[in-house]
Amino acid sequence: MEKNIENQKIINKFNTLKSKYEYGIRLKDEKSYQSLMNELILLESSFNNKIIKNFLIDIKTTKEGTLTLKKTIESINNSNNENFITSIFNIPYEPTMGIDACFYELINIEPALKKYKTNAVPILLKEKTKGFDAPHMVAIFPENHEGIIASKGDKIFYLVNKFAIRHLNTTQKIIQSCVDTNSLKRLRNITYQDMEDAVVYWVYLHEHHHQNVGNLPIPEYLNLKSSKLLAGLEELRVDIGSMLLLYEGHNKFIKNNIFLFEFILSERLLRYGVDGLKYNRNNKIAPSYDALSSYMFFNLLEKKDGIKIKNNKIIINEKIIYTLKEIYKEINETELKIKKSNTEDRKKIMLEFAKKCLGDEKPESYISHPFYNKIREKINHQI
Ligand SMILES: [Zn+2]
Repeated sequence: MEKNIENQKIINKFNTLKSKYEYGIRLKDEKSYQSLMNELILLESSFNNKIIKNFLIDIKTTKEGTLTLKKTIESINNSNNENFITSIFNIPYEPTMGIDACFYELINIEPALKKYKTNAVPILLKEKTKGFDAPHMVAIFPENHEGIIASKGDKIFYLVNKFAIRHLNTTQKIIQSCVDTNSLKRLRNITYQDMEDAVVYWVYLHEHHHQNVGNLPIPEYLNLKSSKLLAGLEELRVDIGSMLLLYEGHNKFIKNNIFLFEFILSERLLRYGVDGLKYNRNNKIAPSYDALSSYMFFNLLEKKDGIKIKNNKIIINEKIIYTLKEIYKEINETELKIKKSNTEDRKKIMLEFAKKCLGDEKPESYISHPFYNKIREKINHQI
């Protein structure tokens, strides 16, 4: 049988398991665990796969509902050629994920990027269960697996084709209709392949900055940065860091560095603020942490003259690079202050900074620039 047909069969099986047992597993129901296990044993015997084997061991050793997928994540971290992931996922911002599985294809990293050591693994998502259909399900972090706390060295899988599709379907529309024709010039008339290539650079440098750059790296300080507001600020920090790294002279050996710079800028500044919102249970609009990072970015850039709006279009000013450097410096200084302060003051200092970027309002009513509403109207994006 052809590989992809065989893979699709396994995925179909996982989709069935998902619809049959996910609800029970969420309620930590003993019977659901037992039935899931029995079906996995059958599946494992017909499909010899190390990851399913370890997944099964984890479920077997589950006692009184405390599921910890340690063996599963270990085998995913050390996998060589399975190109397969399965788990019980618990992702607060992606409730569609639960019992899910996917096959993937590894993407080769160019030598220019390899010198930035990270555990980012850019992949192309292939056959996949329904949970992965959610538009914003674009990466698999270690802490997304039930019962796992991220530790240094755990692989982070970035689903490059899903990032590229979002750029194609949303960011490109924003650029065409809401950005002045003299700005973000290198992002016009690009191919889908250019988008995938840019995503690989983006996620790789992004992860490099999370882990290796700054005073409060991740996962060491993940807990401190876990609130929505501070997670948003962290996303902003690492993307500005990546943009500056691409822009600086000594990195010009990365070909297309200005194209990559503009790609990251367009994603962080424009798209997340437009499509990173949804209605919560109380029917109120809730921005994701990525959307908050866009809001902060927009407000800071406008205040410092890095961007302006003219005739309903965004203009990226020539001096944006100086503005980015200023913002980056401010974020880094704030982090240093936190590092030197005691635990009680830490969150307060960081929250104060994040709030400063979002106006003086309470956290419940973050200031989002009205231009994001205009963009949504123009590209016909429904929340
Ligand atoms: Zn990130």
